[in-house]
Amino acid sequence: MAEPTRPVEHPCVVVGAGPVGLIAALAARMRGLDVLVVEAEPEGRPRPGSRAIGLWPWTLGRLQQLLPGLGERMGEAGISIPGGDIRYKGKQVFEGRIPMLPPLLTGTSLPQTMIEQIWYDECVRLGVDFHWDAPVADIVTDAEGATLTLGSGEQIRAAYVIAADGARSAVRKGLGIEMSGHTDDLPFIIVDVDDHPDGSTPDMFAYFHYNTPELDGRNVMHMPFRGGMRVDLQCKRGDDVDHLASPEGIRAWMPKIVDPWYADHVQWVSTYRFHQVVAETYTDPHRRVLLTGEAAHLFAPFGGGRGLNSGVIDAADAAAAIAAALEADNADAAAAPIDACATDRRAAGLFNRDAAADALRLMRGEDPGSRIKRELARRAAPHFPLAGAWLGAVPLLGRMTLRPGASAIF
Ligand SMILES: Cc1cc2nc3c(=O)[nH]c(=O)nc-3n(C[C@H](O)[C@H](O)[C@H](O)COP(=O)(O)OP(=O)(O)OC[C@H]3O[C@@H](n4cnc5c(N)ncnc54)[C@H](O)[C@@H]3O)c2cc1C
Repeated sequence: MAEPTRPVEHPCVVVGAGPVGLIAALAARMRGLDVLVVEAEPEGRPRPGSRAIGLWPWTLGRLQQLLPGLGERMGEAGISIPGGDIRYKGKQVFEGRIPMLPPLLTGTSLPQTMIEQIWYDECVRLGVDFHWDAPVADIVTDAEGATLTLGSGEQIRAAYVIAADGARSAVRKGLGIEMSGHTDDLPFIIVDVDDHPDGSTPDMFAYFHYNTPELDGRNVMHMPFRGGMRVDLQCKRGDDVDHLASPEGIRAWMPKIVDPWYADHVQWVSTYRFHQVVAETYTDPHRRVLLTGEAAHLFAPFGGGRGLNSGVIDAADAAAAIAAALEADNADAAAAPIDACATDRRAAGLFNRDAAADALRLMRGEDPGSRIKRELARRAAPHFPLAGAWLGAVPLLGRMTLRPGASAIF
């Protein structure tokens, strides 16, 4: 005889208190659900630097819808980037100032640590419960819900689970869901530096330099955020990445593109080879789990910084789908919103992965198509500013078109 399933203890459990889990919890709470967030690490853990710095206007708009005033608050907490400066082999091909409009219309730039702190404070204020130091080890779903088993052996029974447990998601692995895509083999060095004491950093434009002569033809990007500046160096094949990321290496290359002061004021440095992968499905056969954020997809941060921006939409949509499923009066009606959300967000994941891949391809310039496009745009830029703008738009913004039938840009 089959064992009876345990009664449901929680309508909605979110696994992971990263930024996407926090927004999922906040969105579910705003729909009146009791939410428990289960997080592997202890309360007050240090969070890694770098990572997301840009929230787009449509992300701020979605936050504003979730919790009135939150989009505006995020805008005020960050800074508005005043413009873009694009160079090719040392020559400027485009410069454009962004009109000084409210951040809800232009976006905002602030470190992910600051973003997470604001969202966590909101969750606490709204009465979200947190279970810290509680890594999920496994999950089993059935027709009535999901049972999470923690590393301690404790079990938690939920009607629905939002998996926001990041790139190595134990929930995704427990459900046997694979990721498909590839890992880009070129390494990047990402350095966050302090605000310059002369006060000039927040007024700096977002720069993208192709084939920088001072850096032996490497590409480099830099842009300010609240409290500092992000500098991304795209390594060349055969580079000694460890040296370039070391304090001596940074002191050797960084002063060639920004004020030498920055090279001695590094907040955080990391090296990345970016994965470009999307989960094969965003839900389980019983429609009790939705994968969100990096549990569902990993993209390079070029071509629009889509990781967290799309994670916010995943989280908000997952909470809406679960609220609708909980209201449904039969199993088919409950499965429908979960299915629709999983299908739409996976399509978004594939779209975003391709946008990031387009950006990486153009930035590398290794295939004949990208080389020709780059060269044509560079030559046309003095006569047609749009050609120069395009050279900057692909790595910094990526595809800004709406997928057919989609309600969110990312
Ligand atoms: C260099 C870089 C630059 C980036 N720039 C941008 C950008 O400009 N814009 C943008 O939108 N995105 C950007 N991103 C992507 C962004 O940082 C990620 O999309 C975002 O951090 C994903 O958040 P998450 O909550 O899904 O995952 P995470 O931040 O990884 O959080 C996962 C949480 O789950 C917890 N957890 C893990 N395993 C378990 C378990 N078994 N049980 C319970 N809890 C668990 C973890 O401790 C963590 O708290 C960038 C990323 C990088 C690396």
